[in-house]
Amino acid sequence: MVRDSIQILQAQGHKVTKPRLQVLKVLEEAQRPASPYDIQGLLRQQGKYLNHVTIYRILDLLCRLDLAHKVLSSGGFVKCSLGEKEGCHRLMVCSQCGAFQEFASEGLCREESELAQNSGFHTEYHLSESSGACSDCYRKRFGE
Ligand SMILES: [Zn+2]
Ligand SMILES: [Zn+2]
Ligand SMILES: [Zn+2]
Repeated sequence: MVRDSIQILQAQGHKVTKPRLQVLKVLEEAQRPASPYDIQGLLRQQGKYLNHVTIYRILDLLCRLDLAHKVLSSGGFVKCSLGEKEGCHRLMVCSQCGAFQEFASEGLCREESELAQNSGFHTEYHLSESSGACSDCYRKRFGE
């Protein structure tokens, strides 16, 4: 997975620096949305140090390249799990435990663009997120 990200970074003309790799790796291992503070803490546990400005800059770049996404509801960051799928990447995020899944739907994109077009708006990108309970948390809350 990190290897795919390396190829995308290089293909877009960006250097694959050690800090960029470290942030990608931490995001992949975290499996939950992580804030820049979380990322710094996780790196520190591994004996590595990056300052906040560097972490923010790296996250900004990774998000622009769709290698990572910002979670709208919590402000954390996750590593993209889709690669170059058709359609905008969207997240379903559990508000209890932070578990997330990513999906892309060309049909959904088309429908949203058409709705906007009816108002004379020309859409370039869609940003949406589903917030709720993952199947585990839902089961815990309501029983089987
Ligand atoms: Zn993605
Ligand atoms: Zn959950
Ligand atoms: Zn879209």
